[in-house]
Amino acid sequence: MSHHTAEKLQKMFEAMRSAWGPQHWWPAETPTEVIIGAILTQNTAWRNVERAIDNLRRVGLLDWRKLRDIAPEALAEHIRPAGTFNVKTRRLKAFVAWFWDRYEGDLDRMFATPLDQLREELLSVSGIGRETADAILLYAGELPTFVVDAYTARILHRHQIIDGDADYEQIKELFESSLSADALLFNEFHALLVQAGKVHCRPRARCEGCPLAQFEHEIESDDI
Ligand code: SF4
Repeated sequence: MSHHTAEKLQKMFEAMRSAWGPQHWWPAETPTEVIIGAILTQNTAWRNVERAIDNLRRVGLLDWRKLRDIAPEALAEHIRPAGTFNVKTRRLKAFVAWFWDRYEGDLDRMFATPLDQLREELLSVSGIGRETADAILLYAGELPTFVVDAYTARILHRHQIIDGDADYEQIKELFESSLSADALLFNEFHALLVQAGKVHCRPRARCEGCPLAQFEHEIESDDI
């Protein structure tokens, strides 16, 4: 990874941050809600996840012991608004079972585990992919791991920082070797990339007015 790339990523961060300011992702929620949200959010809009979490809150199920003890069929009813609720029930139950088995339902103990080790452990839980694991570590544990998503890959590719076939771990490594290991910085950077992706760097790019337009970029002809 070149010095040039590191500098470019830092400048991109600063450009987005001065355009949009701090994003304050997941500020008011508890680590428990963040973890549940990270598991439920796969392939659905966040507002649906919020409705599922509201259901869980209303019946007192934002509680790891109760989540362990509830029957999967009953849990599925509460998280129905999050979509594909049978799959998500299985994933949530798999996480909860592992969490009790490994950490006896103690979040502090879990997040006191060395980051790389905990990440590997999370990835071994059925249904927890890389983006979910990193979201749990960063947003619930406040541990410095970079969360990569499709927006991140698209923006970096259009700015010729990565190849089209760069994988999750390569992109994550690029950020982590370019920036200081700072959870707040990683949090803000990811949130800003999502903002850029939602507003400008859509399948059809809207570069005009994008804070990243000042950096060299190339849009493939079928994107225009
Ligand atoms: S919209 Fe254009 S300027 Fe903005 S990130 Fe995408 S390619 Fe870059």
